[in-house]
Amino acid sequence: MSSQQPLRILAFGAHPDDCELCVGGTAAKWVQQGHAVKFVSMTNGNVGHFTKFGAELAAIRKAEVEQCARILGITTEVLDINDGELEPNLSNRKTVIRLIREWRADIVLCHRTNDYHPDHRYTGRLVQDSAVLLVAKFYMPEVPALDRNPVFLYYADEFEKPVPFAPTVTVAIDDVITTKRAVIDALPSQFADKDSWMGEKMQSLPPDQDGRRVQIRE
Ligand SMILES: [Zn+2]
Repeated sequence: MSSQQPLRILAFGAHPDDCELCVGGTAAKWVQQGHAVKFVSMTNGNVGHFTKFGAELAAIRKAEVEQCARILGITTEVLDINDGELEPNLSNRKTVIRLIREWRADIVLCHRTNDYHPDHRYTGRLVQDSAVLLVAKFYMPEVPALDRNPVFLYYADEFEKPVPFAPTVTVAIDDVITTKRAVIDALPSQFADKDSWMGEKMQSLPPDQDGRRVQIRE
């Protein structure tokens, strides 16, 4: 492949904020360089709030990541799987294979599989389990197989067992930090509402200079 050819990048997250948190700044840089980026949330995020839930919350979360996608200049998709109920089953594996093949991905990103949250773990597991079949042309022939496997990358995390995260690639996002912060601000049901998950769980932490209680994570 020519180094001039735009790359096609597909990021999987468990919830409608994970890709934005884990790779939003890097995505902004990819877009600046002319690459095509898509975020997929494997669940609809319809649980992680302390006053809203169900279809109402799922709709709010979908609208939030769509706004993030407009800010970043990317494509986004939220699968209609309930928050907290993602399973590493064959149906979901086929969905992941279809999404990677349809995007013709050169790079795929996901969580590692040793996270405390089952949705994060199983997102990583589903992507891992999809990898070997992406190039098998007689498997799901209705979606053309890839000619070669994408590069698979994991998001940074702080989990120590069984092995701590060791970066092989690091990306400085200082020059796009304003965009990254705009993305976080476009997710108020996650971080800014007083009844949001982080708004309640992180009250014990001091806010940053702009009043946010959120880890940038990139
Ligand atoms: Zn998550």
